[in-house]
Amino acid sequence: MSELWPQVSTPLPGPKSEALFARMDKVAAAPMQDHDEVPFVEARKEGCLIEDVDGNVFADLVSAWGASPYGTPAPGVTDAVVDAQRRYGMEITDYVQNDVAIELAEKLVGIAPPGISRVMVSLSGTLAVEAGVKLARESTGRPMILVFHGQYHGEVTYLTASVSSDLAEVNSANSAYVGGLVFAPYPNQFRAPFHRGPGPYDDTLYMDFIEEWLLVHQVEPTQIAGVLIEPVLGEGGIHIPSAAFWERLTTACRRWGWRLILDEVQTGMGRCGTLFAGDHWDLRPDILLLGKGIAAGGQPIAAVMATDEVMADTDVHGGGTFAWTPAACAGASAGIDVLTNGETLANVARIERSARRILSPLVDEVPQVGDVRMLGAFIGLEFVTDKESIRPAPEFHRQVHQESVRRGVLGVTQLGKWVYRMQPPLTMPLDLFEWSCETVADVIRDVATDPPPEADSVLDRAIPEGGTRRR
Ligand code: PMP
Repeated sequence: MSELWPQVSTPLPGPKSEALFARMDKVAAAPMQDHDEVPFVEARKEGCLIEDVDGNVFADLVSAWGASPYGTPAPGVTDAVVDAQRRYGMEITDYVQNDVAIELAEKLVGIAPPGISRVMVSLSGTLAVEAGVKLARESTGRPMILVFHGQYHGEVTYLTASVSSDLAEVNSANSAYVGGLVFAPYPNQFRAPFHRGPGPYDDTLYMDFIEEWLLVHQVEPTQIAGVLIEPVLGEGGIHIPSAAFWERLTTACRRWGWRLILDEVQTGMGRCGTLFAGDHWDLRPDILLLGKGIAAGGQPIAAVMATDEVMADTDVHGGGTFAWTPAACAGASAGIDVLTNGETLANVARIERSARRILSPLVDEVPQVGDVRMLGAFIGLEFVTDKESIRPAPEFHRQVHQESVRRGVLGVTQLGKWVYRMQPPLTMPLDLFEWSCETVADVIRDVATDPPPEADSVLDRAIPEGGTRRR
């Protein structure tokens, strides 16, 4: 293990970061000019640590948003990527097949949930979602997709952008113009529509809403091709539906012939302590979408997987020039070996245990910590103004994040959110992870001594003057 340990010895941004930001701001689009969330320029990564250009070192609780789940360089992954790159250079796997791609396809089918027997190449989570929706429509001959408010599926295209919301309770502002979608709220046991005050709420109420309202007043069940759902809500704030919810949803899928499209782009490949988050409830998706962690810290890659019924005889084409380049396949393949070596998931279990021990008691201790939720190494802390009103506290969250960075911990945050996320590499050494949790816990206690004022409504916070919401 490295000698490095988190330490921040300059103001943030440090002078070298400041100079690079100034250069960038002259040429970059507006959203790339916001340096509040990550107030430094990275110089390199070592293991689970990030060093900035001023020599400050941070614990990496972002893992490239999950795409680098084994630290850097991931064992075996970089060598496999470089070797394949030397051997093939760039290649269009969609057209010219190669052995590394075939090996990866076999390995993915080997670890997939029962029933999933086929794979289609893809490049990003967004594109995998697009292909998954097309497959559901083609294989059922039906038009509509049931989706859940607060989910995130990507930004670039019409469909994924319209379903995506970064803030669980704020409209994505695009959904209203897109046909073919019908929405229900995502199960949330902490704050539920049509209830005031803190839960926990019974999240089968959401299935009551779908069955007694949506299917009665808005759409015929037989018009629905599939249900597009994240098994754990990620960007929307780490919400973990109950077994009873999944039972009701999968029963409805069977009854009405809906394809279950599980978006495991963020939750899959070990993030939630099992190979796929759906394994916690023994979910049997018809279509399984993978991204991020499948790259294993190597090159960009994603995958659409499905049952024979959906994919054995399809005309849907989900590939593209850059999908499954040999180097990306080789890296992903080496990553599956790390994921399935027995030690990686054992470490995720240790991470979860430590996080529960250090972070969960904050709910009783600190008035502004409304809820602490986690599954595996997918961890969220929800901030509120007070436990009675449970009004969201994005400003508190922002201060927690910024002070944590100043003390050497980089977590996942975005302007306007009120859930702070920790998404460490699955292989993060436990001493570094526990130190990170304790540092964040201390920061929370400190911010709570003089909590910042909050806007009355999350809409005021999320949509700044001028109209558009910065992400
Ligand atoms: N689905 C989910 C659940 C995601 O979290 C994301 C990205 N955060 C995407 C899809 C989109 O993936 P990508 O950024 O690779 O296009």
